[in-house]
Amino acid sequence: MNEWSSYDVIVAGGGPAGICAAVSAAREGVSVALIERYGILGGMLTSGHVHPILGMTEPNTMYHEMVQLLKSGHEDKETIITRNGAECHVDPEEAKLLLLDFVNENGVDIYLQTPVVDVVMDENRVAGLKIGTQEGIKTILGKVFVDATGDGFVAAQAGAPFFLGRDVDGRCQPTSVEFTLDHVNEETAISCYGGSDPVTLPDGVRYSDFCKEASKRGELPENVTIVRLHKTFYPGERQVNATQANNCNTLTPAGILEAELTTRKQIPIIVEFLRKHIPGYENCRVTASGSTLGVRETRRILGEYVLNDEDVERGSRFEDVIVHNAWFLIDIHNPNGGGQAEGRSQPAKPYDIPLRCLIPQKVDSLILAGRCISGTHRAHASYRVMGIAFAVGQAAGITAALCVRHEIQPRKVPCTEVQKVLIHRGAKLF
Ligand SMILES: Cc1cc2nc3c(=O)[nH]c(=O)nc-3n(C[C@H](O)[C@H](O)[C@H](O)COP(=O)(O)OP(=O)(O)OC[C@H]3O[C@@H](n4cnc5c(N)ncnc54)[C@H](O)[C@@H]3O)c2cc1C
Repeated sequence: MNEWSSYDVIVAGGGPAGICAAVSAAREGVSVALIERYGILGGMLTSGHVHPILGMTEPNTMYHEMVQLLKSGHEDKETIITRNGAECHVDPEEAKLLLLDFVNENGVDIYLQTPVVDVVMDENRVAGLKIGTQEGIKTILGKVFVDATGDGFVAAQAGAPFFLGRDVDGRCQPTSVEFTLDHVNEETAISCYGGSDPVTLPDGVRYSDFCKEASKRGELPENVTIVRLHKTFYPGERQVNATQANNCNTLTPAGILEAELTTRKQIPIIVEFLRKHIPGYENCRVTASGSTLGVRETRRILGEYVLNDEDVERGSRFEDVIVHNAWFLIDIHNPNGGGQAEGRSQPAKPYDIPLRCLIPQKVDSLILAGRCISGTHRAHASYRVMGIAFAVGQAAGITAALCVRHEIQPRKVPCTEVQKVLIHRGAKLF
């Protein structure tokens, strides 16, 4: 084996979950590597140009730490509260340095532009990762691994079973490329957080109805029935979440290409619609867009527990809670076309996420974090948001460090130990 380096904990994927997993493990005194395929950390937040941060947890998880970090220099800006809950704004450009610096200063070895291309197995245990470097494909060895790739790539390569899409037809939520507009006239311009926002145009027509009609008339693409216009830190700017490609399998190169082409071709059409019809947007122009396609849903790895629809709807409690009072709406962007799959995003009650959702079946030395944890299609539509991914990542990192400290497998770690560390770090769990 062409062994390159070895660590106690190796985290694959430097998005919201991976960043918090790596830092929280390092804070427990183990050696940690964070492996990221792109040249920046942040995942969807930076590469995908996705914001605001949505989703909530009890105070004092790493969600709150990250929001504070990303709000540096913008403390005077108020958090907007909508039906989506707290919308925490960030500047994705500033985030690129803030996140890199944060992870680096916490003593994590960061590998940028380094894709994980395969796993090295020792029977059913992950023993190493094959990574692509300028010196060729190398093997990096570890005691415990965290899969924070979003797509559950490490777990899938290791042979962990997974779900894909909804039960009825296997379809996943659509993909989107988000973009930013400036030159928006704040005196007249609306903002809109989603299809259930009652915001109206000057003639009293509801903006969401106007978007639907424009889609029917062909002025917006058929599957773009709402153009979400989020405020940002900066007056005259809007973050636009509107493009979408349905039913492209982004686990294949052909699916990724189709989705990129579809969504990027929609951007000028949406801008033209805004310029022509929406007051305040007459002179708007695109200043930035995601460098990569935004993928909402792919593999959900089957874990020791599957967080289900009722858990999220009723607000389930678990003895092995590692994130307490996680909350976000059940937000299923329609896999078949525009808008929401269930008419509108559905209510959820603050729920617990149990440690068992982070432990994949059949594979050892591996912990899940972020949107690939174990849950149903509808539950995932709530816990996938970045605010919750930060807190899940924190718990994954602590669990990984405890595995190293006690020389035990993730599924054998006493949850009370993980909870003790989380509480020591300020989290409220019960
Ligand atoms: C279009 C869109 C809009 C959204 N809007 C919002 C929103 O407004 N607010 C909100 O809070 N959430 C939103 N979400 C959801 C949220 O962005 C994601 O669910 C969240 O980022 C998941 O975090 P993660 O860390 O699990 O994955 P990601 O953010 O996807 O990070 C995964 C990281 O792993 C890396 N990676 C993947 N494979 C490999 C590999 N093989 N080797 C090395 N590195 C790898 C990726 O490059 C990436 O950096 C949106 C998502 C999309 C797609």
